[in-house]
Amino acid sequence: MPNNHALLSASAAERWLTCTAAPRYEEQFPATTSEYAEEGKLAHSVCELKVLKKFTPMGPKTYNTRYNKLKSEPLYNDEMDRTSNIYLEHLTEKAMSYASPPLVNAEVMVDLAAYIPDGFGTCDCVMIGGDTLDITDYKHGKGVFVSAAGNPQMRLYALGALAKYEPFYGGVIQHIRMTIVQPRIQDEPVSETMTIEELKAWGESIKPIAQKAYSGFGDFVPGDHCQFCRGKAQCRARANAYTALEDFKDALLPTPENRLHSEAFDGAKPMLTYAEIGDLLIRGKNLAAWFNDLENFALSTILNGDDIPGWKAVAGRSNRTFTDTDAAIAAVIASGYDEALVYERKPKTLTALEDLMGKKDFAEKIGAYIIKPLGKPTLAPLSDKRESYSSATADFAGVASENSSEKQTKEAKT
Ligand code: SF4
Repeated sequence: MPNNHALLSASAAERWLTCTAAPRYEEQFPATTSEYAEEGKLAHSVCELKVLKKFTPMGPKTYNTRYNKLKSEPLYNDEMDRTSNIYLEHLTEKAMSYASPPLVNAEVMVDLAAYIPDGFGTCDCVMIGGDTLDITDYKHGKGVFVSAAGNPQMRLYALGALAKYEPFYGGVIQHIRMTIVQPRIQDEPVSETMTIEELKAWGESIKPIAQKAYSGFGDFVPGDHCQFCRGKAQCRARANAYTALEDFKDALLPTPENRLHSEAFDGAKPMLTYAEIGDLLIRGKNLAAWFNDLENFALSTILNGDDIPGWKAVAGRSNRTFTDTDAAIAAVIASGYDEALVYERKPKTLTALEDLMGKKDFAEKIGAYIIKPLGKPTLAPLSDKRESYSSATADFAGVASENSSEKQTKEAKT
């Protein structure tokens, strides 16, 4: 494979398919990493190891040595064991759904150059069984829900895997199923299935866009996809989109002088209509995120010794903390306070107990005491993939959950 980093990476496809200027613009900014990204890489390594242990010949000694090495990494935590088990459970169930054992490969490098210049990528897991080629991607992040529906990263991986395996399978492969397992944010993996004709047609449709993005003559198009762009803080197109205050003029609050005179609004009514509010919410949706990026960029620039005119760095609020908690608590007890007053006894959280007991035992022993109430209503654009909130459903869900909980509690006691 060519470089370590493709200019048009599959993971950034959602961005460059919309903002075709992004890849060349981003080239001037050094690639950075974060603790979250490094934690994600480590979690992927744990997942890979478990898949290899399960689906390829690997003795317990090799497995334990390799797992202990991963566990010794500073960013390792027990949650990775739990989430990688969920990933493995999903793959195991899928593999068992086929009449005969499928081919299972982990961390498969795929060549995407037929669709995007110099493109390549790595599929977390490729499984081929029956007439279906399955691509599964593990996501460790819990900040942003990633949907498999219409996901260009998954489709590109699938195209790469199809190009790799189709020659060996002749016309056997007819369907592609793409699944995302994101255990820290959603209980059930989500999938999208396409025929190979549909997938290939999609691949053809993005070729000219990829060429444009690669050429350096792309267009700057700001939007949700700016979130992970390396140049997002300094991007003028993005700044222009959010500083076009003229667009917001109809939303300015009326002053005491003009409050009673609608003519102060150039003929517009002093009160915003629902349609205007809907429009303003769409236009201003990413305003706060953009401003936050700008602030973070300015702060790190100043801390690096450069000057952002009109701004400086100051110390923020901080809380008192013990230099040595054990010694401090010992001193409190030594001074005559009863231990029972000094310590709080709290049960572990639901997730920590699940980690402790294992999923199966946890479900068997205390599943009857668990409900998942509907979350608080939150505003979302119509394009959001979640179902619309309805207070009637929420009331019903509350009642239903209570009833089922009561019933389960009674059953558990009998
Ligand atoms: S910040 Fe947004 S608009 Fe600017 S280059 Fe990046 S993706 Fe494109």
